[in-house]
Amino acid sequence: MRVSYSPGYYVSLPEGHPFPMGKFPALHRILRREGLLRPRDVLEPGRAPWTDLLLVHTPGYLARLERGTLGRRAERRMGLPWSRGLVRRSRLAVQGTVEAARMALRDGIAANLAGGTHHAFPDRGEGYCVLNDVAVAARLLRLSGEARRILVLDLDVHQGNGTAAVLGEEAGVTTFSLHAEKNYPWRKVPSTRDAALPDRTGDRAYLQALAAELPPLLGAARPDLVFYLAGVDPVAGDRYGRLSLTREGLRRRERLVLRTMRRRGVPVTLLLSGGYASSPEATADLHAEAHRAAAEVHGVEPGRAAAGTPPEGSEPKRESTSTGSPGGTECTESTIRGSAARTS
Ligand SMILES: [Zn+2]
Repeated sequence: MRVSYSPGYYVSLPEGHPFPMGKFPALHRILRREGLLRPRDVLEPGRAPWTDLLLVHTPGYLARLERGTLGRRAERRMGLPWSRGLVRRSRLAVQGTVEAARMALRDGIAANLAGGTHHAFPDRGEGYCVLNDVAVAARLLRLSGEARRILVLDLDVHQGNGTAAVLGEEAGVTTFSLHAEKNYPWRKVPSTRDAALPDRTGDRAYLQALAAELPPLLGAARPDLVFYLAGVDPVAGDRYGRLSLTREGLRRRERLVLRTMRRRGVPVTLLLSGGYASSPEATADLHAEAHRAAAEVHGVEPGRAAAGTPPEGSEPKRESTSTGSPGGTECTESTIRGSAARTS
């Protein structure tokens, strides 16, 4: 499976910060070690252009982000201290999702070893999420005609409030969130469909709920591309989760999702989203389960020879032309405002 990954996904955080930034390089290491990822299958994304970010985020927010003038309250809400590196890594991760989606359209499945930052709103970051990669990618691919009908399958334990705020009522996009009811975000923004689970839901009830949701969801959405936010925070022992999935339950979840999509010939963009196990390495090892399941479901070389027949209309209408801006476009308030006028 081809993946987007950049060493720049990692930036250092203050000592003791609870966000497991080390999970990104750790996942890359695990997949390499297990032979699930070959160097030639790694695409290193550039930074998402500000003009693409403006498809979702407000000019004011992007300008404050670029300049480092968010203010302490906004940084606290975001949960991450501002730094140039943080802005860079957030833009790299957005572009990684865009490129992974394009690879998925071609290969049947592809991944970004980051992304799924579903708590980011147009005008603010929240819950360790700075930019909403899925919302940007969904709008970009629909505008370019690369995808027409998109399903956001959000299985992170927290409700996808930011994504719902952007895409919840967007034509051609279906958002679905399966999450813990009594958990952050306290004010949930309605997705196209939400399913909330009680505390300590275990494998059986979790998998039953998911299995019941998938067929009607796919029937209604008829997607030609799925963004799968495969958060591993529903697993028991997660610092922020309140559900009780076992590792075997997680494996079965990943197989259920990937087999269902494969059977229906729907391309899948696999994204990380949240996970807060005992260490960044342990968290990455849980994220690796989705890649192990992908190898099982799609074979050793998904896409090349083994991908299912793509559904009609899922062929990209043009070759990828944007790989982001290698050096990053300069962002000033005037370019942002100018771009906003062009894109809105
Ligand atoms: Zn989460």
